[in-house]
Amino acid sequence: MTTLTFDSLNPATGQVVGSYPKQAADAVHEAVSRAEEAARWWAGIGHQERRRRLLDYKAVVTRNLRELAQVVHDETGKPIGDATLEIVLTITHLDWAARNAHKVLRPRRVSTGMIGMNMAATLEYLPLGVVGVIGPWNYPVFTPMGSIAYALAAGNAVVFKPSELTPGVGVKLAELFAESVPEYPVLQTVTGLGETGAALAKDPRVKKIAFTGSYATAKRVMAACAENLTPLVAECGGKDAFIVDADADLDAAADACLWGAMSNAGQTCVGVERVYVVDQVYEAFVGKLTSMAKEVKAGEHYGPITMPGQLDIIKRHIDDAAKTGKTLVGGPESVRVPYVEPVIIEDVPEDSPAVREETFGPTITVRRTRDAQEALELANASAYGLAGTIFTKNSRRAMELARLMRSGMTAINSVISFAAIPSLPFGGVGESGFGRIHGADGLREFTRPKAISRQR
Ligand code: NAP
Repeated sequence: MTTLTFDSLNPATGQVVGSYPKQAADAVHEAVSRAEEAARWWAGIGHQERRRRLLDYKAVVTRNLRELAQVVHDETGKPIGDATLEIVLTITHLDWAARNAHKVLRPRRVSTGMIGMNMAATLEYLPLGVVGVIGPWNYPVFTPMGSIAYALAAGNAVVFKPSELTPGVGVKLAELFAESVPEYPVLQTVTGLGETGAALAKDPRVKKIAFTGSYATAKRVMAACAENLTPLVAECGGKDAFIVDADADLDAAADACLWGAMSNAGQTCVGVERVYVVDQVYEAFVGKLTSMAKEVKAGEHYGPITMPGQLDIIKRHIDDAAKTGKTLVGGPESVRVPYVEPVIIEDVPEDSPAVREETFGPTITVRRTRDAQEALELANASAYGLAGTIFTKNSRRAMELARLMRSGMTAINSVISFAAIPSLPFGGVGESGFGRIHGADGLREFTRPKAISRQR
């Protein structure tokens, strides 16, 4: 029997960096069969042994950091430093999940509240069995491991389908795991495109799917899950807003805004895409932001656009915004395939694609607002609701605005910081998806709460 393969390419050079099997439904089903057996064993060894194995996996990943970063670099084109940072952040999550699963998921006695009845009640968080993880290419280690580490720590086996753009990273993650857990394939990677993800989502033995990707694909994944009523965590895109209030530290705000918008060439689900600045500080803030942005160079400070099709979307947004708004930095000429130089455009109508749709490139729109309230209203007008940022020195107002921001996560006087804090849940509202990964909520997401009542 011949196995079909597909190539992974370095998007900066177009060179083939690996070749991987196109695994169709039968191969996925075999992986799920192996995972079922592995899940029984992994659940049976208990929290302490799992903790020991996961901390060992953390040590293996740490030892292989350079090699893994090289694969990330080869398949995404991002600088080695960015690839390394992504893996270091992943290690902190792996550590947290390993050390905290037994505390968060320990069985507990709960009060029955039934006066006069001799009744006891217990709540247990049991593993689901086999979990399917479908991950994206933009942070091919950090993003899927945000589900995988927590699902494993909760006692599940995982079948991981990496993006077809980063299969080598997925294969490497499972290979390294087998060094710490050689007995059973508790973490397996299946590679492919076009049918592999759907085969995983449709397998009735998979008890949960954790999908990270676009809103459009999430709906298709949900339809596949619906066949067996398989529960789903959907981590989708964003159109995150950055609000600068009148009393903000403008240097810090400009610095954070630039990093949040341009790092990873803007290919970040929680990247800054819309900037709203209060009138009094608009000129000063935008002056700082634009002069800093002019120093940023694609290919030096960040890598290429990894997915060729995304370039068309970025180009369409820039072309449209340049016609309707005023270009402050870059413009249509900033697209130099496969790179995109920083682009900042002001006064783009709120109903234009560059403001409404996820761009996923190093481009931002900026708009002057009367006050922070108006900035918040504009921020909240998006169909997405993943994350957002507020810069102000008034901590009470910052907290009020953060609570009112329609997003799963908000950073105050920093950008994207919530993602690096393992104890905080990560996820969005609206078209940004549902369910939570990371933290205690992320661990519980991969369990089934079991209620037991007992008459004494
Ligand atoms: P994508 O194109 O939306 O998803 C591609 C993946 O979905 C592939 O692995 C594909 O596998 C699978 N798939 C397609 N149809 C399927 C189906 N019917 N059932 C099951 N799986 C199916 O994602 P992407 O372009 O890699 O990711 C970019 C997006 O991810 C952006 O929108 C970004 O904002 C978002 N993102 C979100 C977060 C977050 O945490 N919220 C983090 C990072 C990125 P097959 O080819 O085998 O079908």
